Amino acid sequence: MTKRDYSPFRVVEGVKEVNMIFAHDTELALGAAAALVNTEQSDSDELADVPALDRFVAHWGWTGSRRGDNSELDGVRALRPRLRGLWHMDEDGVVAAVNAMLRETRALPQLVAHDEWSYHLHATPPDAPLADRMLVEAAMAVVDVVRSGELDRLRVCEAADCDDVVVDLSKNHSRRYCSTSCSNRVNMAAFRARRSGA
Ligand SMILES: [Zn+2]
Ligand SMILES: [Zn+2]
Repeated sequence: MTKRDYSPFRVVEGVKEVNMIFAHDTELALGAAAALVNTEQSDSDELADVPALDRFVAHWGWTGSRRGDNSELDGVRALRPRLRGLWHMDEDGVVAAVNAMLRETRALPQLVAHDEWSYHLHATPPDAPLADRMLVEAAMAVVDVVRSGELDRLRVCEAADCDDVVVDLSKNHSRRYCSTSCSNRVNMAAFRARRSGA
């Protein structure tokens, strides 16, 4: 089984001790949304079946009810192009899209504490469909991003052959690549070009 490194997650984890740009639950939700979008690759689908969804859900610590069937999987997969769009729109477009997501799911923000988590926001009941909960959590996180005027932190990987979305949580807005494998590839290509051009 090949497994991607869910690189936004590592950034979220690494950043939270140093400098937090957003609240922890927002950063985690942004990382989860980016990872979900990036499961859809041009040459492969990393959410190809229910066991793959189970792994994704476990990795990101989703709680709440599961159906564990193909209709649930289809619902989650259908979120990806929609969420990817948030990385490509201007601010007004993002606002319209996020408001629509919150409206159609009848999101109702409530502070809750469960498992090991202290109070944080849920805007869907725990028995809402998984895809609705994922959509609303992503939308609520993007609400935070827009309110903070930080929409430029949602970027697309700058490697020429990569469309993965990136959440830049660096202090100086310096993150350009989705993963170390992309940054290494770009650096190596630049190194080779320098050497052959010298
Ligand atoms: Zn929660
Ligand atoms: Zn990349």
